[in-house]
Amino acid sequence: MPGKQLIVFDFDWSFVDQDTDRWVFEVLSTELRRLLQTRKAGDGTGMQCTPDVVNDTMKDLYERGFKREQILEALRILPFHPAMRRAVTSLKGRNADTTFLCLSNSNEIYISTILEKHNLSDLFAAIITNPARWSPSAPDHLLIDRRHPASLPPHGCTVGCLANMCKGAELDDYLAEQGGKDSFDKIVYVGDGENDFCPLLRMRKGDLACVRKGLELDKRIKEEGEKAGLKVDVKYWEQAWQIDEWVERF
Ligand SMILES: [Mg+2]
Ligand SMILES: [Zn+2]
Repeated sequence: MPGKQLIVFDFDWSFVDQDTDRWVFEVLSTELRRLLQTRKAGDGTGMQCTPDVVNDTMKDLYERGFKREQILEALRILPFHPAMRRAVTSLKGRNADTTFLCLSNSNEIYISTILEKHNLSDLFAAIITNPARWSPSAPDHLLIDRRHPASLPPHGCTVGCLANMCKGAELDDYLAEQGGKDSFDKIVYVGDGENDFCPLLRMRKGDLACVRKGLELDKRIKEEGEKAGLKVDVKYWEQAWQIDEWVERF
């Protein structure tokens, strides 16, 4: 594939084979894993913002005496498919005109820890996600904020992105910083989740969406793609080796 290309990766269930937020609690505490689920669903008020509920549940984890190292170790053992690693490292090595962007509703500490574990800290040109930091006064307490702060006016997305981040607006902003959409000959997006639908609407015919089969993005494309004017080409994948097979042609 000639020309300059941008490969955008959603992280959970796309780059890695798990949901980072759920995984950390699954590894450390079933009780808190359940609490996360309950909070996420809200008390009849609809879906809650992911970084808010993870931040609340992280506070519980800290108060129960769990340590920073236990959180980091849970992240280091999170399932990451060797074929996905092979796909991205071979493409990066082969094609210097490829830029990798991570666009995720996880958080900075989770993503950087996992990338470091797999020697991929240099892969992404940028990681757009929710900010996170260890509390300066309590070093075992992880604090997670919203990418789009609650103090700012709402981002105004009309296709259903949660209040903490509109992935479509984030992609548009990134592309504008890089000199505009047309400075890339091709944009490829690898995703699976409901909030990956919005960025796909910003992409062009001839760009490619690699959509994980059977998950929420797949359903949204089938139900809403046509009426929302989705132009991008779509390919469906189930396992990382298929991505590895496709990128051989990029
Ligand atoms: Mg995902
Ligand atoms: Zn949006």
